[in-house]
Amino acid sequence: MFLLLSLFSSSANSQPIDTVASPALEARVKEEIANSHRALMNKFGSLPDLKFPVSLVTRDKFNSAIAGTPWISAYFDGQSLVFDLDELEKASPERFISLVHHEYSHAVIFSLSNGKCPAWLDEGLALIAGGGDRSQLFQAFSDWTENRKPLLLSSLDRSLTNLSDEATAVAYAESLIATEYLVKHKGFAQIKGFLSALKQNFNPAAAFQGAFGKNYSQLEAIILLRASNQDSFT
Ligand SMILES: [Zn+2]
Repeated sequence: MFLLLSLFSSSANSQPIDTVASPALEARVKEEIANSHRALMNKFGSLPDLKFPVSLVTRDKFNSAIAGTPWISAYFDGQSLVFDLDELEKASPERFISLVHHEYSHAVIFSLSNGKCPAWLDEGLALIAGGGDRSQLFQAFSDWTENRKPLLLSSLDRSLTNLSDEATAVAYAESLIATEYLVKHKGFAQIKGFLSALKQNFNPAAAFQGAFGKNYSQLEAIILLRASNQDSFT
């Protein structure tokens, strides 16, 4: 039911305890977490030592923990990383990698920011780490912005899970657009600097401006530009 992974310097130095997952699946999760850690180090440079439990729980148990958000297959709650075991077992190899890299990056971002990263940036970075098909998100964004304004970034600072299903997909798409813009034009080092400033309790708006030379309104204008230039999603 429960894996304790000691993370990390270079090897997956982990000690499984009491798991219902098969040893093979457990080994795949550990291996993919190690791969994800290396991939994030390539982007962010050095990372803090991370140590937290990883739980692989059955669908029933997972469902009771994520009431109201049925599309979720894994989560990091600030203390442990929890995966829906049934989802992992049936996932294609690509989906398996995407799930682990997505969720593990949430844990790393939490540790870099002490849990203070804006939800949209947290999600955008996890979506980038997880890769995979984004066409449904961008379709939702495209449909939404036909006759509605994009969601304000400031409304996506705290959570993306308290929205309607339709708005949630739009929120994820906007998170990805804004984050990809920052990655492309500012880079991971600046993002890491911003997360570090949040960890040190700097004012979020001032830290954002300091790290990226932009405020939310300017980033929202970039999202709006993407809404009127949908061809660039292909
Ligand atoms: Zn996520």
